[in-house]
Amino acid sequence: MEVGRYLVGTAETLLHGEFGGHPSKGQRYALSLTHAALHIQRLVPKPEDADQRTVVALREVAGCHALRSRTPTEAHVAYFSVYAYPQKKRKVTVGSGRTRQRAVRTFRVDGSADYTRNQTVAERWVVAIKCLLLGVPIGSETEIDPGLLPRPRRLLLLVNPQGGRGLALQHCHAHILPMISEADISYNLIQTERQNHARELVQGLSLDEWDGIIIVSGDGLLYEVINGLMERPDWEEAIKTPVGILPCGSGNALAGAVNFSGGFGQALALELLLNCTLLLCHGGMEPMDLVSVTTCSGARSFSFLSVAWGFISDVDIESEKYRHMGSARFTLGTAVRLASLRTYRGRLSYLPAADGHRPVSRSITLAANGSLANLQRHAPLHRTVSDMALCEERDVVTKRNSAASVTDTGELPSFEASPSPAALDSDSFTFDPVPSAPPSAAPAMAPGTARHMWGPPDDLLVPLDKPVPGDWVTLEADFVLVLAIYQSHLGADLFVAPFASFGEGLIHLFFVKAGISRAAMVRLFLAMERGSHFELEYPHFTHVPVRAFRLEPLTSKGILTVDGERVEYGPIQGQVHRRLCNLITGTPRVKVSTF
Ligand code: ADP
Ligand code: MG
Repeated sequence: MEVGRYLVGTAETLLHGEFGGHPSKGQRYALSLTHAALHIQRLVPKPEDADQRTVVALREVAGCHALRSRTPTEAHVAYFSVYAYPQKKRKVTVGSGRTRQRAVRTFRVDGSADYTRNQTVAERWVVAIKCLLLGVPIGSETEIDPGLLPRPRRLLLLVNPQGGRGLALQHCHAHILPMISEADISYNLIQTERQNHARELVQGLSLDEWDGIIIVSGDGLLYEVINGLMERPDWEEAIKTPVGILPCGSGNALAGAVNFSGGFGQALALELLLNCTLLLCHGGMEPMDLVSVTTCSGARSFSFLSVAWGFISDVDIESEKYRHMGSARFTLGTAVRLASLRTYRGRLSYLPAADGHRPVSRSITLAANGSLANLQRHAPLHRTVSDMALCEERDVVTKRNSAASVTDTGELPSFEASPSPAALDSDSFTFDPVPSAPPSAAPAMAPGTARHMWGPPDDLLVPLDKPVPGDWVTLEADFVLVLAIYQSHLGADLFVAPFASFGEGLIHLFFVKAGISRAAMVRLFLAMERGSHFELEYPHFTHVPVRAFRLEPLTSKGILTVDGERVEYGPIQGQVHRRLCNLITGTPRVKVSTF
């Protein structure tokens, strides 16, 4: 499914031209640029199949540069390179490895004996392609001029070297930094040194120096950043700083949601990272809701993902010890917890979003490609990279091109940047006693504790020691799990709320009541990988769209998480604040004027 701008005027040819190839000088190509793709037809030597064409999908392109040869005999020639990351032809198993491969196409503009004229043509192609990547509206009548382009973005990358399998820094150097440099993004990279480092860092940051803060970790580090921004006296402005995520943690739910909203099929591991990096290269952001969560001590925090109790929070926290396994830790944790299901007694109250106050049963249809067919988609710092790394990185890119080309042909003009810019059969259900002391009895993180949290007033909530308002619904039951989620994904491969979107102002409240069989739980979680769990129509499984909720655990011990981070155990409540922050999604439903 193509989304957003790719649907608009895809057939219209914006530019057409004939160019030489590189590194082989003998080849000639006819190029056509449409809103969705660069179409490449080889003219010389004539291919056996005259219709053979290469189509470079722009959503798989990180960037585009104009270049000049340093070889004296080539002084009049201009070049432009398109940096694409197409999927490998032979798809490997999901999550097992890289399924995208860098492919650079370089074209030789030599129609004139005068370099300036050739350079102007190369520049026009570069500007047009960049406009399409960044969502700057152009048509075949548009005068393509560098003035159309916004200034290059400056991003602050916060990297958690301990996130997931501890590969974040390695992924930065191998993939992220080269790709964002190809997109002309300049950056500072800061490694976090400990928990809450990022939270403290953003409190003292001069935010107007940055076009965005990018988290290179799992969801936990973004939780820190959002709460750090909300602790600033200028929170109203600060929280509008665009934030983005490049998945290098074990819990990559938001990245899964961004990947899905960007029109890519479900991906894990490196493929997910490359998809999200491509989307980041394209810019574009969307408003995102935050949920203000209050725990029993009165501490308030802002959550972008979920509040979980029971099965899900147990798996999340108990599987911490398998962290080295990356996202597989949740699969193992799920199997362990399924083997000994627990239930928790509690009182759940909510303010329904829809009229009727009845739980909503939804059925969705997935297209063959897995996408939704019938839904409208709507400090001392480790500074490892200099602020303006652009030129250096271009050199790196050039070197990488060169290395590849030398291997191919043995001859190459050297380039410089252009001067212009577990299924269990048994249905028997045994309840495990809740452990007398949960794995880590101390709350690992009490959000907002001893910190001043600003933010909009919670006008839908009353204090936790007061009864909920009269228009709320309350039920008391034994639960296997309660989950309040506001993203489509709870993990990169847990498509829990396929209908959720970033700024809709809804909390999707799910709960599973005691009595569900273990086999049904297995089927439920397996179906969640494809988002088809609603089709199972299990009576114990309920979904209600709400604006606010309160959960009062009546079982004395248990685990509560907010965005996957453990919080103090006890009554907890939250309300949604619509479109409070801005998320970089790569699909510019909101025109970005700041860069
Ligand atoms: P994961 O998905 O692997 O859990 P997260 O981004 O959620 O990755 O980070 C896990 C935890 O690591 C968060 O609580 C975060 O505060 C903490 N953290 C951040 N930087 C560091 C660091 N340098 N050392 C240890 N923990 C860190
Ligand atoms: Mg985490």
